[in-house]
Amino acid sequence: MPPMADDRPVLVLGGGPAGLMAADVISAAGVRVIVVDAMPSVGRKLLMAGRGGLNLTHSEPVGVFLTRYGAARDWMAGPVGAFAPDAARHFASHLGQETFVGSSGRVFPKAMKASPLLRAWLARLARQGVTVRTRCRVTAIEGADAVTIDTGGASERLEGRAVVLAFGGASWPRLGSDGSWVDMVRARGVGVADLAPFNAGAAIAWSETFASRFAGEPLKRIAIACAGGRVRGEAMVTRGGLEGGAVYQLNREILEEVGRAGKARLEIDLRPDLTFDDLLARLIRPRGKQSVSTWLRKAAALSPVAIGLLREVSPGGLPAAADDLAMLIKGLPLDASGLAGLSRAISTRGGVRLEDIGPDMQLAALPGVFVAGEMIDWDAPTGGYLLQGCFATGVVAGHGVLRHLGVVLATVQAENSQEKQIETERS
Ligand SMILES: Cc1cc2nc3c(=O)[nH]c(=O)nc-3n(C[C@H](O)[C@H](O)[C@H](O)COP(=O)(O)OP(=O)(O)OC[C@H]3O[C@@H](n4cnc5c(N)ncnc54)[C@H](O)[C@@H]3O)c2cc1C
Repeated sequence: MPPMADDRPVLVLGGGPAGLMAADVISAAGVRVIVVDAMPSVGRKLLMAGRGGLNLTHSEPVGVFLTRYGAARDWMAGPVGAFAPDAARHFASHLGQETFVGSSGRVFPKAMKASPLLRAWLARLARQGVTVRTRCRVTAIEGADAVTIDTGGASERLEGRAVVLAFGGASWPRLGSDGSWVDMVRARGVGVADLAPFNAGAAIAWSETFASRFAGEPLKRIAIACAGGRVRGEAMVTRGGLEGGAVYQLNREILEEVGRAGKARLEIDLRPDLTFDDLLARLIRPRGKQSVSTWLRKAAALSPVAIGLLREVSPGGLPAAADDLAMLIKGLPLDASGLAGLSRAISTRGGVRLEDIGPDMQLAALPGVFVAGEMIDWDAPTGGYLLQGCFATGVVAGHGVLRHLGVVLATVQAENSQEKQIETERS
């Protein structure tokens, strides 16, 4: 009699983009998958990312793209080589979401939101036989063949053939990924670097007057410099500092400076589109009877919040000389004590240590247990690098599971038939 086929499922723990991608690859090969998630629905952070237009990936050359992963760039060359930015665009297109390249090179779905993509993705997973179990919190990982879940007061042991960990990072914990997996994973002998905010605001101690008046106000078309890095963009004043794209892109510099000097000096150019001389020429025009604020608003086209910032750093009064004032507008100094907390950070640094992960995303300490997504110790600025990293590591983990189970050939066939099926559906 032939041996009985092993019908135990692969357990994918965490239903964010990384887990769903691993589940997609594995189920496309005909292997049973159960996705387990603590929240009432999966993909909540993906949906939140959709509020900003869902920056799926970036169109720059892959060599440049990889540099965005900083110290993890060589490590990420594997996953991003296996699932490149173009593959992310094809993936979205197969789900009925055509993409476009924005003026910054960032790639977005034309719908500029995540819900249609997630809906189509979950429908495909359902067709591939994936079971999604929500409101189930994983509380212990025995190994590749069993985990314990809490189903809302009751404990249940789930058996499987392999496990993919895709618990996410720890930012925006109300969306599900709260970093509570760290102790559980460390308890199994896996090295985990402490989780900390990344793509987070800069923590700045404002005066109460400034914070209460200007928190929530955007600083548009500015440039921020820190430790040799300079970024043009926007920032938003918060009660505890500055957040927004321009600040996020300087997170590495801010962290390095804080590590080195205890604080990071940010220099804000409030009029990066004007040269110092052009600005000076505007500031030497007589003020007449105008108030200083009106004059600055008209002569230098500064917003009330920008003028508020000038006053914030000049407790003894604004510089009287036009060239001193121009210098302040072109290089307003602010000291950040570090990055703002995890609750509003876009992503997390730290996570499962790269040296503990094999080439297939398999954990060296736990054979048959694979890992994917933001819970791995890589980080990147905003720009599509985060989702790309999650998709790519999810794909590699999925293929790793299939290789582990010995179903590599089936993968190729199933992927082909999946493509045909999708084409039929769209035509
Ligand atoms: C506001 C915001 C905007 C963003 N915009 C973009 C963007 O435009 N482009 C981009 O590239 N990136 C963006 N990101 C980042 C991106 O969304 C994340 O990097 C990505 O979602 C991480 O995917 P993941 O699958 O690793 O983890 P997650 O998406 O965090 O999913 C992890 C899942 O695991 C579940 N889970 C956690 N612990 C347990 C447990 N113990 N038991 C069971 N389930 C558990 C969670 O409920 C969650 O569903 C944004 C993030 C935020 C917060």
